[in-house]
Amino acid sequence: MSVQDLGIGGLIMSVTDFKAAKKWSKLPKNKQELLVNNVFCSTCGVTTIVKYTLSDDEFGILLQGKCKKCGKDVARFVEDS
Ligand SMILES: [Zn+2]
Repeated sequence: MSVQDLGIGGLIMSVTDFKAAKKWSKLPKNKQELLVNNVFCSTCGVTTIVKYTLSDDEFGILLQGKCKKCGKDVARFVEDS
């Protein structure tokens, strides 16, 4: 498994946490896309997260990246199912 296999359309620039990446890769592609395209930005409202990194957490995965529309920092927590 390579880092490239984990991204959606190459949006992931770097994966900082292998465990998180592994968890993320186990999610179905359609769910990943849903999560990535449904991130809240304080400026734009619902937006798409780009250039994100994944961090492992006890209860899930934290996505941290930039808003696709305005470039502001946004984050999304994905709970383990
Ligand atoms: Zn924004």
